[in-house]
Amino acid sequence: MADNSQPHFLFITYPMQSHINPALHFAKHLATTTGATVTFSTTIFAHRRMFSSTPNSDKSFNDGLITYLPFSDGFDEEGYKRATMDLMEYFLLFRTNSKRNVSILLNDLVTGGRPVTCVVYTNLLTWVKDIAGEQGIPLVLYWIQAATVFATYYHFFRGCFESLIMLNLLRELFKILDREQEKMKSRVLINTFQEWEIDALASVCNEVEAIPFGHLPKEYTNSVAGYLFGEDEKKYMEWLDTKEEGSVVYISFGSVSVMKKEQMEEIVKALKESKRPYLWVVRKDNREEELLAIEEGEDEMVVEWCSQVKVLSHRAVGCFVTHCGWNSTLESLVCGVPTVGVPHWTDQAINAKLLVRGLELVMGEGEKSVDIRRKAKMLKDKALEAVTAGTNQDCRRF
Ligand code: UDP
Repeated sequence: MADNSQPHFLFITYPMQSHINPALHFAKHLATTTGATVTFSTTIFAHRRMFSSTPNSDKSFNDGLITYLPFSDGFDEEGYKRATMDLMEYFLLFRTNSKRNVSILLNDLVTGGRPVTCVVYTNLLTWVKDIAGEQGIPLVLYWIQAATVFATYYHFFRGCFESLIMLNLLRELFKILDREQEKMKSRVLINTFQEWEIDALASVCNEVEAIPFGHLPKEYTNSVAGYLFGEDEKKYMEWLDTKEEGSVVYISFGSVSVMKKEQMEEIVKALKESKRPYLWVVRKDNREEELLAIEEGEDEMVVEWCSQVKVLSHRAVGCFVTHCGWNSTLESLVCGVPTVGVPHWTDQAINAKLLVRGLELVMGEGEKSVDIRRKAKMLKDKALEAVTAGTNQDCRRF
């Protein structure tokens, strides 16, 4: 059994930006507010990209707050390659390799006199349950999507639709929660704010202790950002400085979604018609050979990757056209920026339902537009209130 006298939290995250961002914020918050030992672990491939601009990209290290300790998932050099790998095959190999290597990592920490007393893991890493169980270490899921999405899956998997193969991974996760409940109420930390999703949280509260744990993204913009992509060198913040308040359309579809050339053409057309300045993130891995030449000029800027929270916090940004990834959704709400949702897959359609709609509608001067902006501000205030009042981010409840 682990030594419980020295709290040591090990965060294990799936190697995607949307898992790394909230888990890293959470880890930093925990280390700062409780003084506990915190170790952050993702795959070697993601670790290298997170720290590519530092001397630490190829090793574990401590930044004075957190120890970063990567594990191998067997894909250290190239990660998951969408174009050439079968996703299911990748998941199976990822699981086998990661399970073995995280188990070794846990043993090494015991041998090195730093036993882990609690494991925090993000969605999709159901195998963590087995290895923590074998070593008698308590673990807690950090659900990095909306409580509404959690509640939807929760009720779905307890219903009669169990045979859908595509949902295998998530079904497994909810089975784990069911098994836990045989002994006691499952405890899940959810990346949201109490006031935003009262109904969804209430709908699972009889069976699950769902603790809202959203973060305010602005808190950590000056420390390690944990980006898997290199920030564009273009002076996009200075460019924003030259624009009028609330005039710029910011467009980004996150770290995974790929847009087809035709879809980009449609966006270009819509942007031209709107006659508003825009800042558009088109990642390097979304720039195929037959790349669409997107016009750039005084009022148009295209970047490969930016510091999104800084952009959303800039006074010039009036609207965010987003794929509705949960992190982007939270960030737009916390920064009080009205959004136009273009959901692609997984939880994004539900997230879009939680957002407001319509470019002209949100940026115009009509009664409805003013009302939407008022609501965006109200949601931001509620998030701030929740954090200040301690209904969120209360590490003692954890
Ligand atoms: N992001 C960023 N710069 C960019 C594009 C995205 O910092 O140019 C960050 C964004 O702030 C968010 C994360 O990448 O925290 C994307 O996560 P999300 O859940 O929105 O979408 P996913 O990448 O999983 O589709």
